[in-house]
Amino acid sequence: MSNFQVNLSNCDREPIHIPGQIQSHGFLIVLDKEVRVSYFSDNIYSYIIDLTKDLLGSSIDYLETFIGISFQPHFLKNLIASSGSKNSFEKNNPVPVEIGGNGYFLIISKNAGQILLEFEQATSDFELNVQYVLGQSIAQVLAHKNMDKLLEQTAIEVKEIISFDRVMIYQFMDDGHGAVVAEAKNNELESWLGLHYPASDIPQQARALYKLNLTRLIADVHSTPSKISTAPGTTDHLDLTNAQLRAVSPIHIQYLKNMGVASSFSISIICDGELWGLIACHNYTARFIDFKSREYAKLIGQILSSALQFRKEEVDQNEKDALTFSVAKLGKALLGQQDVLSALCSDPESLLQVVPANGVLLSAGINSFRYGKTPHSAAEAILLDWLFDNVKTDTFCDTNLSALIPELEDCKSIASGIMFCMISREDRECLLWFRPEQVYNVNWAGNPNKPDDNHLDPLFRISPRLSFETWREEVRGVSNKWKREEINAVNLLKQEILSAVSLQAGAVKEMNARLKEAYEELETFSYTISHDLKNPLASIKSYAQLLIRDKSILGSGQKMVQRIADRADQMNLMINAVLDYSKIGKITVEFAHLKMKEIIEDIIIDLQIVYQVNMPIITVDVTHDLFGDKVMLHQIFSNLISNAVKYSQHSNPSTVHINSVCKNNEVVYTISDNGLGIAAADKQSIFELFNRMDNVKNIEGSGVGLAIVKRIVDKHHGKIWVESEIDTGSTFFLALPKPVKFGF
Ligand code: ADP
Repeated sequence: MSNFQVNLSNCDREPIHIPGQIQSHGFLIVLDKEVRVSYFSDNIYSYIIDLTKDLLGSSIDYLETFIGISFQPHFLKNLIASSGSKNSFEKNNPVPVEIGGNGYFLIISKNAGQILLEFEQATSDFELNVQYVLGQSIAQVLAHKNMDKLLEQTAIEVKEIISFDRVMIYQFMDDGHGAVVAEAKNNELESWLGLHYPASDIPQQARALYKLNLTRLIADVHSTPSKISTAPGTTDHLDLTNAQLRAVSPIHIQYLKNMGVASSFSISIICDGELWGLIACHNYTARFIDFKSREYAKLIGQILSSALQFRKEEVDQNEKDALTFSVAKLGKALLGQQDVLSALCSDPESLLQVVPANGVLLSAGINSFRYGKTPHSAAEAILLDWLFDNVKTDTFCDTNLSALIPELEDCKSIASGIMFCMISREDRECLLWFRPEQVYNVNWAGNPNKPDDNHLDPLFRISPRLSFETWREEVRGVSNKWKREEINAVNLLKQEILSAVSLQAGAVKEMNARLKEAYEELETFSYTISHDLKNPLASIKSYAQLLIRDKSILGSGQKMVQRIADRADQMNLMINAVLDYSKIGKITVEFAHLKMKEIIEDIIIDLQIVYQVNMPIITVDVTHDLFGDKVMLHQIFSNLISNAVKYSQHSNPSTVHINSVCKNNEVVYTISDNGLGIAAADKQSIFELFNRMDNVKNIEGSGVGLAIVKRIVDKHHGKIWVESEIDTGSTFFLALPKPVKFGF
């Protein structure tokens, strides 16, 4: 045996595959590569009483003097040679042999070049009409569509075949603990149906062996195991992973004794390649069932495994289809939507069809949308911070949120379970589904957390399962689990959202490109047309002037010709304005540090020349420097100041005031007048092309100036707005970036 000293803290690491001994209801001989005996179990002498010499190193010929089949000389030698060449040791199992006139089953297995020969009695203590019993059992098992019935019938049929006192279907739950989900038992025994057992009752390495060997018999818990002998000095521990007779861990033996069990037999149930559970059979007196009977029972286990696998796949597929359908429906609805996230909010029921839950949150940065039962806003903020800080994957789910984030303890009734789907980490966009806690009782077979530390026998002390008296635990704060299909559905939904978002982005990009193209075309068109109109217009003007000088045209005729000339002038003005407006679209801004005092003074001088005596009183206060295109800013100020002068001319006295303040990173200029003013309803439309207000109709103008100003302001990423009152005056505000360094 290995030198491993097992105790309560390390029993999950006990090397149970190299126990150094076997159960004594059979014996073991191990042959090395030279087909000579390298190990044997000490109890061999009680099975083959004629053995006299030390077996180690003996040849197969020597063994054949005791073991064989009548009239088949060298049967064993030939069997091993042929199995070895075909590498098919297990295929022949069990091989009926005779020892001292008694029938035995030889079970051959191979391990790292060694051949293990295990001998067990060939008769168990019950008779089996194999074909009939198995046929009946399989038919019975498969007759039940309902899962609970299927499991119960399996327990009944296995009990029928092997006649153990109690047969249980023991299922491993997600967290590793197990529960009795079906049972067939003798009437006098109390039922263990529905009892739960902690994960530590069947440690990991034992589970691994259950996956490799589908049946396991412990024939007599109270028998003394037989040691395995080998040549002195051999340090290699004999690996009994594949051996039928492998001795049982002392902890497990004690565990069974504590339960009053004398013999145990288990059949593994495998589903999806994993150990789903066990058909666990207990007998309260020692019980040996031979290899063949064990194999029949194994067949029932395999039938059950296949039935479970089939049912599971059927259920999984149905659920998967339903969820995929919901995702596809939602994905289709998202396509062609302007705003994908708002589209999701508009149909929250679909979100709850993709992932069945009591509430859902769509968080998109500062905008959030909630539907159904969701945690209060403080809890939501804590949860989102935690998720964005800790979750590195696209999806994440949990069924016990308060264990993860204790501050959220008070949200148990709403959010014990969360399913998180990250849409964009940068923009903190995500979807979160919530499930409430499901309070339920677990009936444990004994308190799973309380080993008996006071017992004198150390083996008792390390056995946590000393008491199997039912102990009830109320489980709180845990939601229904999230199924694999649901997690897959969330991943699918995320892909749908992302592809809708990218389609949307693509469509916006394409539209922008088309708009730009159309815009450029329009600009070129308006530029060309304006330009081309200028020549015919000049001709009209010239002819009109000729007609004005024609003395034969009198009275109303003269007036009409004069109007033609005036209108031609106005049209020329408008064409020039349109040309100016179009030009701005083509010119790129050349930013420079501008001394605004000089520019403003320049503009005022020009205006004085035009208006002369009608010039209002212009006061200029602070003139902060600006950062912008010199020509363009000149155009802005020229338009704003000349409008102020133009529309305040008739006030008495008319005044215009220019000032500026510097706030944060921008300079705000104000140009105020005490003129005609603008109606509140027109404050926006004055910036549109050719828009002139009714109160200025008798004052000359094209309605293009402010449209140009607005365009230039936009090009400088600035802002312009107006505050005004009819017949009182207007103040235009102009906010533009301040230069990095002020040069006052
Ligand atoms: P216009 O050539 O008509 O002045 P603008 O585009 O410069 O064209 O101005 C558009 C309209 O805005 C003007 O026709 C006028 O109705 C109004 N407006 C602009 N500035 C003022 C102002 N300082 N006072 C009153 N109305 C103004």
